[in-house]
Amino acid sequence: MYKDIATPIRTKEILTKYGFSFKKSLGQNFLIDPNILRNIVSHANLTKDSGAIEVGPGIGALTEHLARAAKKVVSFEIDQRLLPVLEDTLSPYDNVKIVHSDILKADVVKVIQEEMTNIKDIMVVANLPYYVTTPILMKLLNDRLPIRGFVVMMQKEVADRITAKPGTKEYGSLSIAIQYYCTAEIAMIVPKTVFMPQPNVDSAVIRLIKHDTPPVNVIDEDFLFEVTRASFAQRRKTIFNNLQAGLQNGKKNKEVILSALQMSGIEPTRRGETLAIEEFGRLADALYPHFCNRQ
Ligand code: SAM
Repeated sequence: MYKDIATPIRTKEILTKYGFSFKKSLGQNFLIDPNILRNIVSHANLTKDSGAIEVGPGIGALTEHLARAAKKVVSFEIDQRLLPVLEDTLSPYDNVKIVHSDILKADVVKVIQEEMTNIKDIMVVANLPYYVTTPILMKLLNDRLPIRGFVVMMQKEVADRITAKPGTKEYGSLSIAIQYYCTAEIAMIVPKTVFMPQPNVDSAVIRLIKHDTPPVNVIDEDFLFEVTRASFAQRRKTIFNNLQAGLQNGKKNKEVILSALQMSGIEPTRRGETLAIEEFGRLADALYPHFCNRQ
């Protein structure tokens, strides 16, 4: 077993050796606690037959733990300055592939097809760059990757919104956008002290496991998300008022929206935050004929 990259002493050694300076704009907060890393990886339930996709390896702190636990690791890093560092720090591991790319622009499905042939169990495991947490998750979900799920670190405030249940103040369109695809839970809360440099916000690791089938069957997924976004546009407004303001088809919609709410068994005076995903599904389907006549 090799010396962990993620001890404070070894991390400092590596940073000094390469004269590396952190770029705040790239969300570079590296983990310097091997116990946290082991914990993160254990939540992913990887075996020696699994694959791991990582976003942002940094100097390889989490990557090496993934390399020890999985059959193959593919890791996407945007910062070119880290490539020689990773070549050095990860040299003991022959099962890691670093892809120099912005994850938001990468063809991840193609990379999986090329690098993970015959691997059936794939997880995304990452300490995400916080400035793009939501775009990264939404991209990887929309790409329909052949994965089991995600174990990812992010700012706690976003983790709370993603995992929120109806009736809470954190519950909103992001909760629904993610919970439509996955079960979502907070796996651990992480103190600032395990990062270098320390971030300004608290952090949490969440675990998302993809549903076999979505919790609601809807005519049009994009329209479901349009309805949920409109329903939460102004949190203090009723669902009826938000829908009237947010859904546009060039006509007066009052009657149509009232009758769709009635058909779905939803009181027009309720607020979006009280609606479960199944209710949003019924509502989206009832509104669909009136707002999606897209011929
Ligand atoms: N995994 C390392 C760790 O835990 O110590 C580093 C995590 S650090 C929070 C985020 C990493 O993501 C950095 O290495 C950063 O350069 C990289 N990164 C930032 N934006 C990215 C993007 N759009 N695509 C790929 N990597 C990105």
